[in-house]
Amino acid sequence: MNDHPLRHIPKVDALLQHPRVQALVKRHSRRRVTQAIRRFLEHLRRGVLHQGEQLPPHEQLLDQLEHYVQRQCRNPLQVVINATGVLLHTGLGRSPLAPAAVQALAHCGGNYASVELDLESGRRSQRVLAVAPLLQELTGAEAAVVVNNNAAATLIALAALAQGREVVVSRGQLVEIGGSFRLPEVMAMSGARLREVGTTNKTRLSDYQQAIGPRTAALMRVHTSNFRIVGFTQEVPLAELVALGRRYDLPVIDDIGSGVIVPLDLPELEQEPVAAASVSQGAELVLFSGDKLLGGPQCGIIVGRRRWVEQIARHPLMRALRVDKLTLAALAATLELYLELDQARDQLPLLRMLHTPLDTLKRRAQRLVRRLLQQAPALEPRAVREVGYFGGGSVPTQQLPTWCVALCPQHASLDQLARALRTGSPPVVPRVQKERLLLDLRTVFPAQDSTLAESAVRAWQRCQPQGEG
Ligand SMILES: *Cc1c(COP(=O)(O)O)cnc(C)c1O
Repeated sequence: MNDHPLRHIPKVDALLQHPRVQALVKRHSRRRVTQAIRRFLEHLRRGVLHQGEQLPPHEQLLDQLEHYVQRQCRNPLQVVINATGVLLHTGLGRSPLAPAAVQALAHCGGNYASVELDLESGRRSQRVLAVAPLLQELTGAEAAVVVNNNAAATLIALAALAQGREVVVSRGQLVEIGGSFRLPEVMAMSGARLREVGTTNKTRLSDYQQAIGPRTAALMRVHTSNFRIVGFTQEVPLAELVALGRRYDLPVIDDIGSGVIVPLDLPELEQEPVAAASVSQGAELVLFSGDKLLGGPQCGIIVGRRRWVEQIARHPLMRALRVDKLTLAALAATLELYLELDQARDQLPLLRMLHTPLDTLKRRAQRLVRRLLQQAPALEPRAVREVGYFGGGSVPTQQLPTWCVALCPQHASLDQLARALRTGSPPVVPRVQKERLLLDLRTVFPAQDSTLAESAVRAWQRCQPQGEG
């Protein structure tokens, strides 16, 4: 028993004394490092007992331990390099904020702020005043209110206007947006009853008209954000729906989804509804997300007629769905940029990335390839022209031409390399294709190019048999 390999597994206390582990303790706290060491030693013990594994030499064991502790102690929420080319990746937090918005939320976050205090009168005010005048000015609406996201905007609008009554919606617009937002379910939660009309591909004005009765509370249009029905199709234009609603004294709710707030005159965004246009066509309520094409923080924006917006603002759900000062600060700063379109184009990361000329992307891809050829030639890096997408349930059929670095690693699987990239520091999220990984430069900030190259080289080294695994 004396020379049983288990006897050579180091003790937790002894490891904690080691300078390399001490450095980890400084960074991650003794408590978390100790827990991670226990788990690491348990794996080691099981490997030795049940798989007949050999204990590695001490230094190598420390390497492994260090890597293990770092992975275990890492916060799951990490800043990543988005090399997917998907501009509004919901898994990556959708839109990055403009510097002005980042400053505003940091400043507000670290201080007290007049969220619900009117500084002139000293009386209580409404938190939405931080953004409502900007939203009104930009969209031309009479009133505005903001909630936690567009799903919440839909929920509260339906609850406030149509609880216990019917809302008429075209069958072709009963959308599911990723992450379980299904219009019929949200409608059910709100207490409104869904009255479906028309068919999947065709709905006419007369379909809406025939469904209107004493129990009807509203007509609703939903933008089919993440799919297109093509071929033999018909939808009722908003203006006609509004005219019908007026005849019966019914409000029209327009869920435009992503929402370009004001016309941007970009060919790529031709198919996206514009909030200001919906308002001018007479929609009584227009709903859209803050963190899709607007480029702001996560929130749901509701603009429209004062009468309905006030009804929403007074609804008891408002207390549960209201936004905090951070969102208000970031949203206000984002909206300010839209007062001058040039500012918006210059400073909103989303619009900047969208506008990056293909030539620029190509040059950056070629530079990255030259660097990788020197440092990790076995990745077989090549600059390739490709297409990317908006993502985030926006402009689903719009392809965005782009330039990528394609990687076809020798002696490592694509899954291995993708995982090494994702678990690196900083993590890099690539686009995975059948036979190669793509690093799409459209969504990589130019200032990240060099870090991206280093991360790719290190990921490659970790894929090698002698790497740290
Ligand atoms: C994205 C989207 C939603 C949900 O918006 P969130 O801000 O993600 O809650 C609702 N409706 C439409 C049409 C959308 O495109």
